Amino acid sequence: MEADAPNPDAPGAHATTSTEAGEVDPLDIHYMRMAIEEAKRAPALGEVPVGAIVVHRGTVVARAHNRRSVDHDPTAHAELIAMRDAARALGDWRLEECTVYVTLEPCPMCAGTMVQARIERCVYGCGDPKAGYLGSLEDLSSDARLNHRFSVTAGVLAEECSTLLRDFFRGIRARKKAERKARQLADSSNEP
Ligand SMILES: [Zn+2]
Repeated sequence: MEADAPNPDAPGAHATTSTEAGEVDPLDIHYMRMAIEEAKRAPALGEVPVGAIVVHRGTVVARAHNRRSVDHDPTAHAELIAMRDAARALGDWRLEECTVYVTLEPCPMCAGTMVQARIERCVYGCGDPKAGYLGSLEDLSSDARLNHRFSVTAGVLAEECSTLLRDFFRGIRARKKAERKARQLADSSNEP
């Protein structure tokens, strides 16, 4: 655990509405920057740059980035690992009074885990129109049929978060193209 941020006021002091623009809590920006720093560690491992941190009463209790490839684990999403680590650190599977900061909108699995863990709030960076389950495709945070609801703030430093992803996938495409070209060159020089 580390207390590396000003202590926020009592839980619930944050704005709880989802917002793309408008006022953003400086504390949310502070923590999202930490999540972005986590995300930046992922590409060196060949992982998609998504980062997450969990904050409990003003203290960062866990931080993680994607580890699907290195761990050979389809569930090794940044926010899932961070929630697991946070539960271990707090000695409780319930992450009450916890806010999960994640650079990309959570998928169904991670949003479902947020319900299971009974988190207080999730703050995410860019939306994910193809898999996002906190607003894009569905919104698991406010489904009245489920036994837990939590507040969501979307779009915090969204541009920075999506640029990370865009640059990563652009790099992969460029590398594949270069490899194809090199193969073609090798093939043609092998011809009699
Ligand atoms: Zn996920």
